[in-house]
Amino acid sequence: MAEKRDYYEVLGVDKSASADEIKKAYRKIAKANHPDQHPGDKACEERFKEANEAYEILSDEDKRKKYDQFGHAAFDPSAGYGQGGYGGFGGFEDIFGGGGFGDIFSSIFGGGGQSRNPNAPRRGEDVRATLNISFEEAAFGCEKEVTAPRVEQCPDCKGTGCAPGTTAETCPDCKGTGTVRTTQRTPFGMAQSTGPCSKCRGSGKIIHQPCSTCRGMGKIRRNHKMTVKVPAGIDDGQAIPISGCGNAGSNGGPAGDLLVGIIVRPHPIFEREGTSVYMEQEISYAQAALGAEVEVPTLDGRVKLTIPEGTQPGAVFRMRGRGIPSLRGGGRGDQFVSVKLAVPRNLTGSQKELLRQFAASMGEFDLGKSSIFGKKKR
Ligand code: ZN
Repeated sequence: MAEKRDYYEVLGVDKSASADEIKKAYRKIAKANHPDQHPGDKACEERFKEANEAYEILSDEDKRKKYDQFGHAAFDPSAGYGQGGYGGFGGFEDIFGGGGFGDIFSSIFGGGGQSRNPNAPRRGEDVRATLNISFEEAAFGCEKEVTAPRVEQCPDCKGTGCAPGTTAETCPDCKGTGTVRTTQRTPFGMAQSTGPCSKCRGSGKIIHQPCSTCRGMGKIRRNHKMTVKVPAGIDDGQAIPISGCGNAGSNGGPAGDLLVGIIVRPHPIFEREGTSVYMEQEISYAQAALGAEVEVPTLDGRVKLTIPEGTQPGAVFRMRGRGIPSLRGGGRGDQFVSVKLAVPRNLTGSQKELLRQFAASMGEFDLGKSSIFGKKKR
């Protein structure tokens, strides 16, 4: 296999490029090499794939950081850097709008309260992953495989942390409560305080023979692979919460959620804002002046659009229902087509002559002068 090119080099951007610059660079390459525009062209296809891969990494803040640090090895499973442990998860917005849906659970189960009963059920933490999808996949929804590291109950000891055939002893110092009360003499008299039991480190249990799989933790960390249903209409920067697929809870508490942050690759032709799709369509002067029926690319393939007589450059036409489906139901948005005028470059002599005659008929062109220029050329 050939040596992998540097992702920044692939997109032709600087190492310090902003997210916006990366997006722009990707769009340019994707547009120039899109397989739809070059069917069967292997070189274009390769270039397109290479740009997709580079964009997938560089558009994701965490992945980009890892790439900057370790290069391609950061994403090579055999190199052992691991893709797990997404630190920050900035910029993703929960599609169900709640934000912090974990809060309800943590208040019920008292998560985080260190001095609480160590045997009380506690909810597991949320786990985060990112998913890169195409413009079309975001518009119409898709199913994708996502792999995210998470903490699971140890299958060998069923979460007890004890070697097979053994059980944990209730801590004799704290009687299983995990906390001990100490009395101290102070200048103001006797003071009582409670703190975590030092014998069992607050767990309330003593494991004499730890399970070898989880080393007595009762939990293991491993990559969890699952199929995620991406709803139609999802947008860049949104996150899909998948209930119960995060870290396992403790003492019978529920698992946390998996939050899948969505990154949508820009489309070579379409731009999107909410449920609206925007694009530019070139038409000729004659089409603009006389009116025409043109075929316009849409998410549903090419669709006829009627250009009325006397259309001006920059005019915008609305194609109803050709936009993005609404995430919350209620149909699709519209596509807006902005008209751009294509000025012909290499006219033949007779075509120029016709155009001169036309200009003259509009009273805007001095035929005498133009023929002098014409003679000079010949
Ligand atoms: Zn175990």
